[in-house]
Amino acid sequence: MWYFRSPQVVFGEGALDHLAYLKGKRVLIITDQVMVRLGFVDMVRSKLTGAGLACDVFDEVEPEPSLQTVQRGAALMLEKEPDWIVGLGGGSALDAAKAMWILYERPDVAPEAINPFDELGLRRKARLVAIPTTSGTGSETTWAVVLTDSGERRKISTGAPECTPDIAIVDPIFAAQMPPRLTADTGLDALTHAVEGYTSSWCNDFTDGLCLKAIQMIFTYLPRAYADGGDKEAREKMHNAATIAGLGFINSLAAAAHALGHSLGAVLDVPHGRAVFLFLPYTIQFNARGGQATRYADIARFLGLPAADEREAAASLVAALRDLGRCVGQPLSLREALPDLAPPDFSARLDKLVDNAEMDATIVASMRHITTEDTRRLFEYAYEGKNVDF
Ligand SMILES: [Zn+2]
Repeated sequence: MWYFRSPQVVFGEGALDHLAYLKGKRVLIITDQVMVRLGFVDMVRSKLTGAGLACDVFDEVEPEPSLQTVQRGAALMLEKEPDWIVGLGGGSALDAAKAMWILYERPDVAPEAINPFDELGLRRKARLVAIPTTSGTGSETTWAVVLTDSGERRKISTGAPECTPDIAIVDPIFAAQMPPRLTADTGLDALTHAVEGYTSSWCNDFTDGLCLKAIQMIFTYLPRAYADGGDKEAREKMHNAATIAGLGFINSLAAAAHALGHSLGAVLDVPHGRAVFLFLPYTIQFNARGGQATRYADIARFLGLPAADEREAAASLVAALRDLGRCVGQPLSLREALPDLAPPDFSARLDKLVDNAEMDATIVASMRHITTEDTRRLFEYAYEGKNVDF
């Protein structure tokens, strides 16, 4: 038995107008300072107040939201008692909104104790609207919450299926403002979701089509959105693709590139999408050498790449990913991503990188079993930019 979860997805130009149909009394918008500066918070607030809802704003979510920020936002919710929560921003704001919502509904639950198996009984106080302003994380569709324990320099992957947003508003008007670097980082996060969602050990009939479609859309439209931010068609397709990939991977699972990427992001401050995409070619090569069946041939054929057998398909896909990465100015090795990280500095952090990756929930979804030694070597090969041969 398995489940497919999804918010109601409102998409396309004008999707934001859906806010006028919310029934309730009071909304709390969870967002960050960039959204305030871009005028996005005012846009959202005016739709809500126009619909007769009282509206407050918490705009203090930082790029890697900490437990402390989440606790402050939850305290404000307990004071204001909203019946709708609107998360507005990239993955950080949306994840923070989910975590705050849980603590608002369940002040008795410690954030560290949240897990996917205990029923929380959400929606007694409020429901959640997620409005993504980047095209990548898929957080608007997912129940995953990634927080940072800043003291320990480690990511906390948590969440519960119940905190899937009720409504995702996927309006391309927000994506149009992303600078090229953010467009590439977030778009390649979405691509990594789709490839890992299709090839994780929990892949299934309901997610396969979503993942393949998202992969195809991102290969077609990411170079265009990166080269010309004013390309409206490319922006809209990328915004949709990120949500489609989100539905794909959250109802399957992300895998080892995410485990390694989460670890790299926590230890060396590499943005999430750049970090997970960096590892994807290495984990594909690793999986392709495992002797078990892979599904890379399906992806390669869907993209029209050479794929006579699984080995050739994996090689074609890796080459296509690297070409795309180069096309959008992305680092393909740790040395490229972190030019100041000298070999002794890398070695000094390797134990921590490996430990974090092994603790990450996504590593269990790898189609080939990964030992501690494999994880260490994957980091070493990715540091040097070497093709995986083990
Ligand atoms: Zn991701």
